[in-house]
Amino acid sequence: MLKTLTQNRQLDYLNTIVFSLIAVGTMITLPLYAYYYDFSWLDWTMFFALYIFTGLGITVGYHRLYAHRSFKCTKWMEIVLLIAGGMALEAPALRWAGDHIRHHARCDQDEDPYNAKLGFWWSHIGWIFRKDPHRDEKYMARLRQNPLIMWQHRNYLAIIIGGLLFPFVVGFLYDGWIGGIGCFLLAGVGRTFFVLNSTFFINSICHIWGSQPYGDSNSSRDSWIISLLTFGEGYHNYHHMYQSDYRNGPLWYNFDPSKWLIWMMSKIGLTYDLRRQQASSK
Ligand SMILES: [Zn+2]
Ligand SMILES: [Zn+2]
Repeated sequence: MLKTLTQNRQLDYLNTIVFSLIAVGTMITLPLYAYYYDFSWLDWTMFFALYIFTGLGITVGYHRLYAHRSFKCTKWMEIVLLIAGGMALEAPALRWAGDHIRHHARCDQDEDPYNAKLGFWWSHIGWIFRKDPHRDEKYMARLRQNPLIMWQHRNYLAIIIGGLLFPFVVGFLYDGWIGGIGCFLLAGVGRTFFVLNSTFFINSICHIWGSQPYGDSNSSRDSWIISLLTFGEGYHNYHHMYQSDYRNGPLWYNFDPSKWLIWMMSKIGLTYDLRRQQASSK
């Protein structure tokens, strides 16, 4: 059953090559570089800074702003979020948010792009290696009306290249070619690998393991551990039950830096119309 569903789909060669290169590159070149040259404090600083910047671009921008419209924000903040999210190499916002809207609308069914009923591997990354026959314009129609989303769509490749070149240039200015290569490997390739997988954990782990305090009408689960890696997105059971809420972890002690950022930005007028939905426990 699983084999039929997944193998009937055509292989997506570009995705397979790009994502395999990122994974193999991270697992082989990073330890080699660390062994021969060691990473500098600058490489690590750039790694964490870009992990946070691009990770929040996905959670706050792609996810909570575009897929769920859980708040509104100024045009300048949108531009920053679109650049940050684009640098994460998770597809342009149009495609990412369109897929994600479909994930919520058709959760656990064939049309769910990362259907967790097909297992960990498929929901984590397997789906990216295959062409998706269910991609449907109706899930992207409203996104297409946003000129900034379309601007990012046209410039996606430049944003990706910029996100990889930026750490190289910073490292190069600090310590020549070896510094440039080190910063590129850790804060470019490695950072991309870790942000990708932290997002993928939401689709895999948060639909397979964890608690369901808010409802069991779909496979979504809460996992506070995954929230530590994903800026609060691990409270995925609450999120599926109350998807228009700008918070994924609704309780004050839930570790949800994305909701804190959205809330703090509202205090200086960069975000507004924050939506909350009443949570009820079973
Ligand atoms: Zn969502
Ligand atoms: Zn989900």
